[in-house]
Amino acid sequence: MNGKLLLIILDGVPWRNWRRLFGNLEGWVDSGEARVWKLRSVLPSISASCYASIHTGVAPAEHGCTGNGNVFRLSHPDVFSQVRQAGGITGAVAHSFWSSFFNRHPFDLVRDIEYDEPESETINHGRFHTMTGYGLINQMTPSDVDLFATLTNLCQRFGLSYGMLHTCTLDSMGHRFFHDCQEMDNACAMMDEMLAPFIHQWRAMGYEIIVTADHGQDERGHHGGRSPLQQEAALYYFGPAKGPAEDQVIDQLQLAPTILSRLGAPIAGTMKAGSFLS
Ligand SMILES: [Zn+2]
Repeated sequence: MNGKLLLIILDGVPWRNWRRLFGNLEGWVDSGEARVWKLRSVLPSISASCYASIHTGVAPAEHGCTGNGNVFRLSHPDVFSQVRQAGGITGAVAHSFWSSFFNRHPFDLVRDIEYDEPESETINHGRFHTMTGYGLINQMTPSDVDLFATLTNLCQRFGLSYGMLHTCTLDSMGHRFFHDCQEMDNACAMMDEMLAPFIHQWRAMGYEIIVTADHGQDERGHHGGRSPLQQEAALYYFGPAKGPAEDQVIDQLQLAPTILSRLGAPIAGTMKAGSFLS
């Protein structure tokens, strides 16, 4: 394996908020350092189903995760397992669903909150949180700067070939406040400002970077079904690869084979979509 890549998933950010509110990311599109495309999520456009599709490259109709109440150890090969097959080192800083889907289920709070397992066939270095008690009046999300720093820490200490980070802050904010309000403007701007210094740090460490969402949210903060606001997010890419024309919409199922192709890891036979980078 030759490449190094980080996948950053900001949960529940619709296309219009990315392009309107993420000034640092948009500035790097203007300067040519990043490219941006529209990405369309699978159906249902619900978080757990999308996480499973992002990493396996197959639709919920095939992997079987029908929603957040149906989380289990998936049977399909995924990005972590393919990177491990190629001898790469993997890490994740994410909601506990990611550990359940791709390493082991049920999630054991003590055993699985943090692990370093060099021999793992999937996730070598995991740092997870559960958001237990999450609701409209208490988001139960860690600060995003802490999550970005934790991923950077794993990259430095363990030399990750592939790292993924997922945070629910903006999804939770959107469910609570909807999108046309001061709270959401501020939350997106703060996320953009917290993320920005890490982008250049990760680039200096030799990583290609993809920043995207699992799905969008509509005007009532809803997602799960079919509509542009629920399904469409932006995808920003930092790296040397060539991508499609700027008006081409990326299918979420293309993410897994694209990541593996950039890393030089084998693409699983179940991942039928084509890479959007070359
Ligand atoms: Zn989500």
